[in-house]
Amino acid sequence: MRRVGIVLLGLCMGAPLLAQQAGAPWGYEGKEGPLNWGKLDPAYKACASGKEQSPIDIRGAHPNRKLQPIEFHYISGTMALVNNGHTIQITPPAGSYIVVDGVRYDLVQFHFHHPGEEAVKGALPDMSLHLVHKSADGRIVVVAVRLNEGNPNAVLAALWQHLPKTVGATDKLTEEMNPAGLLPADRAYWTYEGSLTAPPCTEGVRWLIFKQPVELSRSQLRSFATLYKVNSRLIQATRGRKIQASE
Ligand SMILES: [Zn+2]
Repeated sequence: MRRVGIVLLGLCMGAPLLAQQAGAPWGYEGKEGPLNWGKLDPAYKACASGKEQSPIDIRGAHPNRKLQPIEFHYISGTMALVNNGHTIQITPPAGSYIVVDGVRYDLVQFHFHHPGEEAVKGALPDMSLHLVHKSADGRIVVVAVRLNEGNPNAVLAALWQHLPKTVGATDKLTEEMNPAGLLPADRAYWTYEGSLTAPPCTEGVRWLIFKQPVELSRSQLRSFATLYKVNSRLIQATRGRKIQASE
């Protein structure tokens, strides 16, 4: 079962997801790094003691024909970018949402990790894109896209022109973009129950991870890596959780 109560608590504190809580400072190295997150703030307890943490290594997935395709209802708009000290986070205008098992989840924000966080049979992608969604009753669904070096990505090219270079800096797209342009053509996915991959590591998060990765060029990869050399959490124990695969 999803731990809806815990998720609601996190959201009721008025915290925008993932990175901008009022909690203790945290990071990706040294004393504030992932191995110490659980000790930095009582609110981050789940990072150390949680039993269903993310990311995990995707292997041994069970095919499930009953899993429905994710319905994407993303709209174009101008986007606001912020360098929040943990990632580059993009806030789309209201109105983009997905439907999963008949429930609407609004797209709240999306952001990137380098290297990527979703391992598949032990192999990490070069980067990850996480599209964070929330239902009216506070449930969280994250759609993950694995990004690997290859051809230039046209949608990222537009975004990368506005990467805020310093922590706290913001920028805004001058032209409209549609986040659907960042999704792979093949929408088959893996799904499992996990957590946010950054403090407060809240559990009860449903993950939907596309099987097909998306490409970006080496220079696009480097542009992000210049800002965030490492902003990803290590693989967490699966602890018997079931990973299902859509067809
Ligand atoms: Zn993330």
